[in-house]
Formats: sequence, C-alpha cells, structure tokens
Amino acid sequence: MASSDRPTAAISHVYRGTFIHSTQETAVQILENALLGVDTDGKIAFVEKGEDLDRLSSMFGFSPSEVTQLTQHEFFMPGMVDTHIHASQYSYAGTALDMPLLKWLNTYTFPVEYHFKDLEFANKVYTQVVKRTLRNGTTTACYFATIHTDASLLLGQIANDFGQRALVGKVCMDRNNAVKHYKETIQESQEETCRFIAELLNKKYPLVKPVVTPRFAPSCTGALLGQLGAIAKNNHLHIQSHISENVEEVKLVKELFPDSESYADVYHKYNLLTDKTVMAHGCYLSDKELDLFRETGASLSHCPNSNISLCSGMLDVRNVLNHKVKLGLGTDVAGGYSASMLDAVRRALDSSKVLTIQNPDYDTLNFEEVFRLATLGGSQALSLDDQIGNFEVGKDFDALRVNVAAPGAPIDVFQCEEPKILLERFLNLGDDRNIVEVFVAGRKVAPFTEPTE
Ligand SMILES: [Zn+2]
Repeated sequence: MASSDRPTAAISHVYRGTFIHSTQETAVQILENALLGVDTDGKIAFVEKGEDLDRLSSMFGFSPSEVTQLTQHEFFMPGMVDTHIHASQYSYAGTALDMPLLKWLNTYTFPVEYHFKDLEFANKVYTQVVKRTLRNGTTTACYFATIHTDASLLLGQIANDFGQRALVGKVCMDRNNAVKHYKETIQESQEETCRFIAELLNKKYPLVKPVVTPRFAPSCTGALLGQLGAIAKNNHLHIQSHISENVEEVKLVKELFPDSESYADVYHKYNLLTDKTVMAHGCYLSDKELDLFRETGASLSHCPNSNISLCSGMLDVRNVLNHKVKLGLGTDVAGGYSASMLDAVRRALDSSKVLTIQNPDYDTLNFEEVFRLATLGGSQALSLDDQIGNFEVGKDFDALRVNVAAPGAPIDVFQCEEPKILLERFLNLGDDRNIVEVFVAGRKVAPFTEPTE
C-alpha cells in the first residue's frame, strides 16, 4: 500500500477472533480468526485475516501486544437497531396487554404519556429505558417520546450521556377525542416541533438526532400532517409514525380521510413517505401500498411482540421483502412487552412459523435472515446504513461482544461449537448476561460508566 493510502486517524483498538455480520448478499457472514481495527474516530479501519497481523501492525502503527483476543465461545456481532420503541411507555412495560389498539391507547397509553410533562418522572423512566436497551444490545434506537418538548429533549440528552445512537421524536397529535387533555392545537404542535428540532440540533450531539413524529393518522388532522411533511422536507429530517397495525384503525383512517386511496396514500399525500421514513407495523398494507413504500424509499418496522400482544395482526415479512421494501425490527414497547431486541428476533421467527402453520407452503424466515433484519436491516430502515449495520471498513464500530458461555448466563455449552451454532444459540437462548461489552462508535457504553456531568 502506498504511503498516501495510509489512514489519517490513529488506531485505538484492535480485536482478534470471530466476527459475525450480514451483508447485502449474505445473511450471515462469519469471519474467523479475523483482525478488526477501530480508529480514534470510532470507525472500522480494517477487517483482515489474523495471519496479516505483522503487516497490519506496521501499516497502521499499533503493537501486536495491544491486540485484544476473544475467547473460544466469544464473537463480535453488529449492535442491534430497534427501529420502533416508545420510551415513555417503558414505564408500564409488561402490563396492560388485554385490549386491542384503539381501546389500549385510550385506557393505558394516553393517561400515562400525559404524566411526562413532569420532568422528574420523565428523567426516571428515560434513564432506565436507555440503560435497559443499551445493556440488551440496542446500540441504535428510534424513539417515540410524548407531546412534551422539554421531556423529549431530556430523552435526547440521556441517550447522548449514555452513548446510545438515537433518533428521538417529540410526538405530534392535534386530535384526541378520548383523552381530551392529552393533545395539542395544530399551532402548538407545529411550533413545538420546530422548537424541539432546533434545540436538539443545537446541542450538537454526535449520535442523537430529531425525527418528525406524527403519532399516526387518526391522531392528526390533515393540516397538521401537511405541516409536518413540510418541516421534515425543509430540514432533511427522518420521519416516523404507525401504519396499518389493526383492522379497526385501518377502518377509522378510511373514515377520517375519505379522499385518500389508501392508508399509505394519506401519508404520501402529505409528503410523509420519504427515503428517511420508518413506519411501524404495516400488517394490512396492500401490495400496491408496498409498491408505494418501495418507490418512495420508505421502510417498515416489524414489531411482532406488539402485533401478537395486542392481537393486532401478522405481518407477512416475506411478502414485504419480496416487494423490496426496507425492513427492520422493533420492540414497540409497551405494546410489545419486552425492550430486548433478542425478544424481537424470537417473536419474528415465531410469527413467521405461525404463518407457516396456516400455510405449509409459506417461505418461513430463518434465523440468519432475522439476524440481518435486527442489524443491517434496521440500519437500512433508518437510512443509517452508510454509518452502521455491519463491519464494513469506514462504518462506525457499533458492536456487541457476545460470550455464549458467559458465567451465570442462560446457555449451557458442552463442546466446542462452530460460530454459526453459537450465534443461533445466542439469538434463541441468550440475554444481557451474554452481552459482555457494548460499543457505539468505538466507545464502550456497557457495562456502564455512569455519565459524569
Ligand atoms: Zn408504536
């Protein structure tokens, strides 16, 4: 390599061992006895064969004695991307799963979210949800907060302090007949969204960005949706919302927006389907609506725990993939009761198997594909795949150091097993005790060093 090709940033860490990740072509690519170097900017500087240690150490200027060697049952995988999680609803996660969506929102969700005007309460819940998700391997989260701007800004600050990569959305809703005190006027919603975006961007957090967040079409007037579409466009921002989660909701949208051809068309009409849009659920989208997603570059977040827990529906993931729509996984706390992306992986596999029970010819998802959805797929769904999602040189090092045989963890390993088997066991049986270290942009963020400020 010519000297002009030498990297500019110095190497801060080099790891040697097994690396497992996904590429566009291969759902599970295994690199054994590989060397991965992380530079001082937190980016992956090289991924090479172990035999090349001497050449790499002289090329990149590090000492072979500084290399961190993984043990036999350890591997690195990319950090997981939760493409849809309500940080505020974490306060009642694991409860309130006994009614369908619209009734559930009115009975549990809106009254709880209203309490986030209290910053002390918000601080408690948001600190816990960031810590819990990071500890469980969510290196990137796409969060819904509530309608409260200051509490939403606080969520951004907490994610930044703990080093989690996050998109944070202040929820917008100017329509709520059931819980009348939990809504905004259209003017408040528009002005507070602008304030939220300006103040969050002004903090210059390197990994935390705002996302324009209409709750979902039934909570917003067309006029507000139009304004939010314009705000996102003018500021080149991400957009998140919900679509086609539940039959009753789909019917309601038809009634509220009689001029629109379909649910997807409602958002499309207001410029809310872009290549930076992620919509949760999509269980009842028609093939034509999926085509619209592909054409606009909008993505879906598959939230199987929530879809089952609220008896909402079953997303035909294979059909979505066949339509070449970008797709990631989401926990959808607290409609989904678990904040762990490992749970989302398992429920996605279970759901696909239920579809196979109903139709034995169904092309069931395999664990390799679901692994890709939880990592690279999520990064694509959030249009962050130029920065994260796998171990490509130049991307940020967002990674989990997994020890399948970690002491006290729930997996019993009896013999030396090949990496793919270790991955399968971890995805099906592992938990946070197996995730011995979590890295975001090269920085170790778990186990925790409490923020110092
Ligand atoms: Zn949701």
